[in-house]
Amino acid sequence: QPAPLLGAADIRRLAAEVEIRPTKTLGQNFVIDGNTIRRIVAAAHLDPGETVLEVGPGLGSLTLGLLDAAERVVAVEIDPVLAERLPDTILRWRPQRVAALDVVLADALRVTALPHEPTALVANLPYNVAVPVVLNLLERFPSLRHGLVMVQDEVADRLAAPPGSRTYGIPSVKAAWYSTMTKAGVIGMNVFWPAPKIASGLVRFMRRDPPATRASREEVFAVVDAAFAQRRKTLRAALAGWAGTPALAEQALRSAGVAPTARGEVLDISAFARIAEAHLDEPV
Ligand code: SAM
Repeated sequence: QPAPLLGAADIRRLAAEVEIRPTKTLGQNFVIDGNTIRRIVAAAHLDPGETVLEVGPGLGSLTLGLLDAAERVVAVEIDPVLAERLPDTILRWRPQRVAALDVVLADALRVTALPHEPTALVANLPYNVAVPVVLNLLERFPSLRHGLVMVQDEVADRLAAPPGSRTYGIPSVKAAWYSTMTKAGVIGMNVFWPAPKIASGLVRFMRRDPPATRASREEVFAVVDAAFAQRRKTLRAALAGWAGTPALAEQALRSAGVAPTARGEVLDISAFARIAEAHLDEPV
């Protein structure tokens, strides 16, 4: 007999108790289906000793599943009403696990300190800030080794896209600085309350070392931003402003082993790192 998770009636009752009206700005779509929670938790491949960082626990649907699979859960929630109620909900559904939960009232885009070092990120993310939240957390918490996030399906495709594919862009390249990302499934709209208008996708990631380069992450990301700001242009043209002149852009591209007539959408993160590094040695 699996431990009980929150269903549609539980979610509606909890929402009524805290008098919350879910808002679009905070991406408040709550999972109302235990099987979906089991699927997300299984796809996250958690070890029992792990400390999981959950962003946006909401009414606690996923938090319960995570507490069954890991040692600790650190839940970062921006909505004070939801953050305050979460320990109560866990006490009702998993009284023996409430001590394994830390609730942090904070914005996941800004949070800098957590009460425990997280080893995994598992979250049903607020959709409008999903990509910056993932990048920010990978940057701030090097202890995050792997994770699984639910995002808008098209964002899942973008995060996991390989160079040269239709959906490859800034999120794909920047995510690749930190990790390898793979799509791990699609989730329909009807497992949420309120139901979103679009499908969701699961993305699994594994931390990896960034490319070896003398350029800083900021310097590499500046090349990425410049290349994709004008993605129809050749790199020589798109990077002219960034390098100073078209000639300097061409020189940096050539010393990085990249054709000046290529477009950014075919380059992987290592190529962007080589271009940033080549530019370090150019005259200012
Ligand atoms: N995990 C719950 C579930 O699966 O039912 C709720 C997921 S809901 C898609 C997103 C949650 O993130 C909401 O609880 C919302 O209040 C919270 N949230 C929105 N923006 C946030 C931010 N910047 N930092 C932390 N939490 C945020």
